[in-house]
Amino acid sequence: MALNACELEIDLFCRGMRIPDDVSLDGARGISRTRAGLGSGLEIVLPTGTWMKPEVWVNVPVVETFARQSPYVLSGSPRGGYLLTNQQTRDAYPVRIPREPSWYGRQTSRDIPMSQIGVLQGTYLGIYVNMVCTFWNYSPALNCRFCTTGQNVGENEAADKAVSDVIETCWAAKEESGVSFVHLNGGFQGTRGIQFTEPYIKAIKEEVGMLVGVQLAPEKDFSRYDRLIDLGVDHLSFCVEFWNPTWFAELCPGKEKMLGQKLFLDAMEYCAKRMPKGAVSGELIAGLEPLDDTLTAIDYIADCGAFPTVCVFRPTVGADLEATPPPGYADMRRVMTHVYEACRRNWIPIGAAPNIEVSIVVNPDDAALLAPRTAGFWTYEAYRRAARAVAAPLFAWRTRARARRFPGVGGGGAPTSPTSKRESAAA
Ligand code: SF4
Repeated sequence: MALNACELEIDLFCRGMRIPDDVSLDGARGISRTRAGLGSGLEIVLPTGTWMKPEVWVNVPVVETFARQSPYVLSGSPRGGYLLTNQQTRDAYPVRIPREPSWYGRQTSRDIPMSQIGVLQGTYLGIYVNMVCTFWNYSPALNCRFCTTGQNVGENEAADKAVSDVIETCWAAKEESGVSFVHLNGGFQGTRGIQFTEPYIKAIKEEVGMLVGVQLAPEKDFSRYDRLIDLGVDHLSFCVEFWNPTWFAELCPGKEKMLGQKLFLDAMEYCAKRMPKGAVSGELIAGLEPLDDTLTAIDYIADCGAFPTVCVFRPTVGADLEATPPPGYADMRRVMTHVYEACRRNWIPIGAAPNIEVSIVVNPDDAALLAPRTAGFWTYEAYRRAARAVAAPLFAWRTRARARRFPGVGGGGAPTSPTSKRESAAA
């Protein structure tokens, strides 16, 4: 039987996809390995055929070794559309391949390509703002074993991103791609990471007007989170990664040595109490530690009022775990079903924020497509719809630019605006 869109999303994360040489990807978003390396696949969009969620976005692994054995093969063309066929089952799925935004080809006023400042991963903009995570500077390195940030920052993306670079890229993404959410991350920076992001948050809120998420290694002084909340940050996420302490220590040696697993949980809980329900998330990687530990972590995170975002382990090229096989579909389907159930049990309003589709994880609301259609399911779905409607004016207010700097946002003159620069060059 053919898979539904969320099942297909999970299977693609586990098995990848093959792209024959004669299939043209003209105009598609390029395959770019930035940040931790998870976006190293091809972005595709799966229609769901349901009103609950019309589309699911997936960053499908295509360059990793395991993807070369995938039964999924892409066919079609930019003009005629694309089809994804499972050559074992003969099931075929129409898919859409999103186009690369025109601003990827432009430069900031400091002459840095915008695609080296931020990338779209689904419908949100991801920007690694800090200097390279310092776990990579130790000898021997203390980097997380699944991560490739140390190889990407300064290579595939700019190492030094000025506030103006970030603002101009955010503005282009908002104006031209309709992006409403920017996610800033930066790995471990000692006690300076959170403070470092403050001018970026302030400038994005004032000059562009977007929802802003921040993901950094936790810091012991929790008043720093209060400052971020005061600045208007909309989302805070904590990379818990693993629940099992042995796996955490083994696979995240820097986090274990410098911070300890408990600090991640404490910081997440603190912020979940300070922010609205569903504004905080705990990030997990599924497919390495025992499955029951991942399920326990999901329950813990949701019980705190945060939502779990679970990434299917991807053995990215160049990572220490490059040769470790990805997990199997059945286990990952069980994990994602559990995510939805944990959110439902805790009345977390997943999917309430507008236009945020993350392609590198299975979004908790994607997993609604996995849930049994019980009375509890329909009640929760009705609650989520109501939450979306009630929250819409609030999100509209939070995505307004507080100061009018850029043309198109309200005038006031913006000599460094990317559009004004391009237009004057054309003239
Ligand atoms: S904290 Fe770990 S996952 Fe995050 S950037 Fe550093 S090495 Fe990578």
